[in-house]
Amino acid sequence: MKIAGQVTVEDLPRICPRLCRQTNPQYGEEQTRVVEVGGVRFGNGRPVVIGGPCAVENHDQTMAVARAVKRAGSDMLRGGAYKPRTSPHDFQGTGVEGLCILRIAREETGLPIVTEVMDTRLVEQVAGYADMLQIGSRNMQNYTLLAEVGRTGKPVLLKRGMAASLCEWLGAAEYIAKQGNLNIVLCERGIKAFAAGEYSRFILDLNVIPAVLANTFLPVIVDPSHATGVASMVEPASRAALEFGSHGLMIEVADLSTGRPRCDADQAIDGETLGRIVNFARGRHERMLFAQAAA
Ligand code: PEP
Ligand code: MN
Repeated sequence: MKIAGQVTVEDLPRICPRLCRQTNPQYGEEQTRVVEVGGVRFGNGRPVVIGGPCAVENHDQTMAVARAVKRAGSDMLRGGAYKPRTSPHDFQGTGVEGLCILRIAREETGLPIVTEVMDTRLVEQVAGYADMLQIGSRNMQNYTLLAEVGRTGKPVLLKRGMAASLCEWLGAAEYIAKQGNLNIVLCERGIKAFAAGEYSRFILDLNVIPAVLANTFLPVIVDPSHATGVASMVEPASRAALEFGSHGLMIEVADLSTGRPRCDADQAIDGETLGRIVNFARGRHERMLFAQAAA
């Protein structure tokens, strides 16, 4: 029996009619909407790998990481110019200067850029530089921000709130969709659960991936960096995410020759490790295509 006030996936046609499978039968039970970002396609079967620094700190650091990410074979570059930090006394990012650095990195590497926007007043500015706008975990339920990024028409990477249910996450995506923008990619980034913080930063909820795939046609990727907070866990978590059906990965990378990252240093992997993850993702996809062709 349903408890009064309880929300379940049965409520999705009411919460997110633009995005759930029940009200969009044209997608059938399995088809994913392909979201294109500067020639990169999410949800077409080939996993997308996004790599980059946690924060855009300066030109040399960002360019070193961008080159490593390109060399590793990634599809896109990430990096926060505006950073949501737990303490207001911590490094807050480099703002518009960081956006300019990202633009230079895109020019050199050819990789499309995804970067976070935290403030409705800055949506236009960030959209002027980014190929894809990231909504961070802490802002997943900032509904005015969601509507504003929806209005830009730019593709959006919507991270899951760290304590958000599937219905809340898809409801947040609906705020973007309601503005006529269905170019949304979901990103699982770890949740607060009872053991979070004890042996890893958050708990990577891989179980949500098949649930997302069953209930919406939007592509979904996994961020194993914030989900674990531990560099040695990022590679196995990436493999596991792909096994669970993730359409891609977003991973934090550092190049220590330019210094220790100012944020999230413990979870950053090097370019070589990223290269192994990219090769695993590509190899796995090719084996699947081969098996399908043989069947
Ligand atoms: C990020 O990806 O830069 C980030 C801040 O992650 P999250 O919003 O998931 O904490
Ligand atoms: Mn980070």
